Amino acid sequence: MAVMLTNWAGNTAFRAQTVHHPSSLDELQRLVAAGSRVRALGSGHSFNDVADTTGDLVVLDRMPDAVEIDSAAAKVRVPARMTYARLAPLVHQAGFALANMASLPHISVAGSVATGTHGSGDAVPSLAAAVSSLDLVTADGSMLTLSRGDADFPGAVVALGALGVVTSLTLDLVPAFEVRQYVREGLSVDALADFDEIMAGGYSVSLFTDWRDTRVWLKRTEELTSPDWYGTTPADGPRHPLPDMPAESCTVQLGVPGPWYERLPHFRHDAEPSGAGDELQSELIVPREHAVKALRELYAIGDRIRPVLHISEVRSIAADDLWLSPFHGRDSVGIHFTWVRDVAGVLPVLELVEETLAPFEPRPHWGKLFTRWPACPDRFRSLARRLDPQGKFANDFTRILLGE
Ligand SMILES: Cc1cc2nc3c(=O)[nH]c(=O)nc-3n(C[C@H](O)[C@H](O)[C@H](O)COP(=O)(O)OP(=O)(O)OC[C@H]3O[C@@H](n4cnc5c(N)ncnc54)[C@H](O)[C@@H]3O)c2cc1C
Repeated sequence: MAVMLTNWAGNTAFRAQTVHHPSSLDELQRLVAAGSRVRALGSGHSFNDVADTTGDLVVLDRMPDAVEIDSAAAKVRVPARMTYARLAPLVHQAGFALANMASLPHISVAGSVATGTHGSGDAVPSLAAAVSSLDLVTADGSMLTLSRGDADFPGAVVALGALGVVTSLTLDLVPAFEVRQYVREGLSVDALADFDEIMAGGYSVSLFTDWRDTRVWLKRTEELTSPDWYGTTPADGPRHPLPDMPAESCTVQLGVPGPWYERLPHFRHDAEPSGAGDELQSELIVPREHAVKALRELYAIGDRIRPVLHISEVRSIAADDLWLSPFHGRDSVGIHFTWVRDVAGVLPVLELVEETLAPFEPRPHWGKLFTRWPACPDRFRSLARRLDPQGKFANDFTRILLGE
């Protein structure tokens, strides 16, 4: 009997015949070896069918969940299905931090890393770039460990679940730090001339815009003393990224210092993330040097975007060397769209946005909605065929990507 299981947004119903919750590595290995179509599901926050399968869906939420912190090496070994919300306080208690976090911490580490999930920060790469090693169960049920420096490693981190079931990941840590979060309102379109300076204005900077009104989420390690920072005014109370939503689910703002994991995400780990509850998301990633031109093009079609938009977010992400990463080889700006949950209404606008950004060679966020597929690097295709010759971990999503 097919199970009725959907992703977080409810726009994808997984077609798996069976959902498994193995509670030991041995059970997982036997399950993978015996299956003909297998795929791991993280916390189900992707907006497309990247995590879907018609066979066996494996959820690692009952696997041992011990976290191992190696203080001398500044590394943490994390079970794959653990969320950042659970991981971050443990890391903080040990005196460490993760260099970056996404807008919400409720997502699993393996699922986030597999799609190249990111936060914002000129000097900070995606969450995947923090991975120094990972363990996975491959198609025949055997274990494979790949570490930074291994030839296949850069292909195996952002891998969309196509190479096997990741069971644990080792992440780089940095010393714990404090962050102050400020929301600044009224950033004018003219301020795009100062885009680089604005994005360099904090450890992590996000612009939230409806392509008319723009507010800045500024996350700094130091106090902001400039009263009229780039012509903006300080918000007079806590703000939600969606202009009309109450801010209870948001992390503390107004410049109050606090630990990194309670400031870098926009949403608190102990509250429901969105507030809109009826959303879809897309994100197109453009090279940093084209960002201002790309943003100006989008402002010009703002009237077409707004009717199906809750809000857009603009973030910066440092380059990495992971083959499938949207940030591979280029410092980038992510242009994100939180859409209303109306696929038929959103699709033509998404296509318009993709066409508008096409001259800037955008790459899509793998976990969000897109219609234009980027080319698959040959070396990733070869790696997938070598590790999974029968296509056990393939699904409709990866078959399109791999051209099968
Ligand atoms: C409200 C909201 C806010 C978001 N904010 C951000 C943001 O700030 N930045 C950003 O970049 N993205 C953001 N996203 C997108 C989200 O981070 C990605 O979709 C991410 O992949 C979700 O992680 P997950 O654990 O839910 O993965 P899933 O959606 O469950 O799976 C994603 C992929 O990972 C694979 N996978 C999962 N677990 C394993 C495993 N153990 N082994 C092998 N493969 C595995 C799956 O097969 C699938 O291919 C947001 C999503 C939502 C709903």
